[in-house]
Amino acid sequence: MQNAKDLLKRLGIDRHPRLLPCGGADSITSECPATGEPIATVRLDTAAELEAAIVRCVAVQKAWRMLPAPQRGEIVRQIGEEFRKHKNDLGELVTLEAGKIRAEGLGEIQECIDIADFSVGLSRQLYGNSMHSERPSHRMFEQWHPLGTIGCITAFNFPAAVWAWNSMLAATCGNSTLWKPSLITPLVAIACNEVAQRVMQTQTIFRPAYGDPRDVFGLVIGRDSEVGERMVADRRLPLISATGSCRMGRKVGQVVAGRLGRALLELGGNNAIIVMPDADMKLVERAVVFGAVGTAGQRCTSTRRLIVHESIVEKLTEKLTHLYASIKIGDPMDESTLMGPLIHAETKNAMKGAIEQAVAQGCHVKCGGLPGLSKYDNRPGYFCEPTIISVPKGVVPAICRDETFAPILYIFSVKDFEEAMEIHNGVDQGLSSAIFTDSVRTAERFLSHQGSDCGIANVNLGTSGAEIGGAFGGEKDTGGGRESGSDSWKQYMRRQTCTVNWGTDLPLAQGIRFGD
Ligand code: NAD
Repeated sequence: MQNAKDLLKRLGIDRHPRLLPCGGADSITSECPATGEPIATVRLDTAAELEAAIVRCVAVQKAWRMLPAPQRGEIVRQIGEEFRKHKNDLGELVTLEAGKIRAEGLGEIQECIDIADFSVGLSRQLYGNSMHSERPSHRMFEQWHPLGTIGCITAFNFPAAVWAWNSMLAATCGNSTLWKPSLITPLVAIACNEVAQRVMQTQTIFRPAYGDPRDVFGLVIGRDSEVGERMVADRRLPLISATGSCRMGRKVGQVVAGRLGRALLELGGNNAIIVMPDADMKLVERAVVFGAVGTAGQRCTSTRRLIVHESIVEKLTEKLTHLYASIKIGDPMDESTLMGPLIHAETKNAMKGAIEQAVAQGCHVKCGGLPGLSKYDNRPGYFCEPTIISVPKGVVPAICRDETFAPILYIFSVKDFEEAMEIHNGVDQGLSSAIFTDSVRTAERFLSHQGSDCGIANVNLGTSGAEIGGAFGGEKDTGGGRESGSDSWKQYMRRQTCTVNWGTDLPLAQGIRFGD
């Protein structure tokens, strides 16, 4: 683990007060999923420390909101620059702690840079509409104000990018963010937050009379029972942006609704690709392998179901089985590796359980399966082979409706587009979707209101790997939230409709006469 120590040193967090030389106070040990070895021990925050963090974030936001948005954007630009400087080291830390292959670790930090760049432009574009009033000499318009302090809860599998999507937009919109990361990836959180806080400390634009500029980007690392649940219930956090499983979203959503707060929920997916007979099969193969095997099937947008026309299903299954055999599994730092480990032993167990259920529900394992799991049992780390499972015609086994957060691909054979759509939309989740076809008509049907019911719908590209420019999120049990590009920034602001009477009379709307 010498390399890990050097990495933490290069990132300037090896002596961070949150890192403990050994256990002691309530703490957790961050583990490398590729080796099972401990990387560092992290002290956990208590409820009292959460309280103090909320007070600080709320206080500093009152000054931050007064800084003109383009100046806030300038500071976010500086944060993006700092991410650029540390991209390699941060990307490698993602690889070390979350097990993503290096290319994906770097890609994740690139997303932080991209959203910072996007936010800089946005800082001059927080536009509101103007309307023509029905009353003479009146002007109507809407404007957008900051919300306050945003509670941001993130999942292990995007330990940096999801926070950046939220906090860069939130800061540009005049908010502070209090981040509670997954306890599986605390080191990435500490390192990324340090990048933002370092800039907040050294920049010369925002020097509030009270409060610490670093608290625009607050961080709490604690157990759900001590910190997470309290955060969600706290009325001082007008918006809770929570990314994770549907199970978590159900709990968090209810608590936030109970206090009439706003929740932005980014939850699980069960993403499918439909393949029609006229598809370009070279594109299909590449998209399926990246979507189903990439990140070891641990993306919310991972391809979990492949719905293929019956005339080509056999050939495609055979080809994919062949391609799966050539995938290099192993050390995620090695440039030639395509699939790293699962995040922990429980995920391996969940994968095993899903394969057993699929077989019990009549499915056939084409590759991977239980032998592909057990072959790594006596080696360090949580590795497995990716699995392809063929589903019998005419049935949808219950296991295929769940999101198993592992590289299992279920292949369905269908007779036509209608049957494909029925299977496609027949799950509770609605995040990402794709169709491969050369027919404009079929593509448009897929994109139409009777087509995909997901938040993301692609033609001739896979389900996984969204760009920051579009709004990201899904429908149904995926939670309905939208983050990142397009007009997602509106979620971090409150809308105010304003009417100004510049005349000398007081006409009433709807022509109401009142004592006239
Ligand atoms: P998880 O639900 O176990 O945990 C996610 C986060 O929620 C963690 O920080 C956890 O500590 C916190 N949490 C859990 N219960 C809580 C509670 N009651 N109150 C407050 N906080 C609570 O998810 P995970 O295993 O870390 O991540 C994998 C899941 O996340 C998958 O389902 C995946 O699809 C989903 N995900 C979705 C998106 C998206 O944008 N839709 C992105 C990434 C991951």
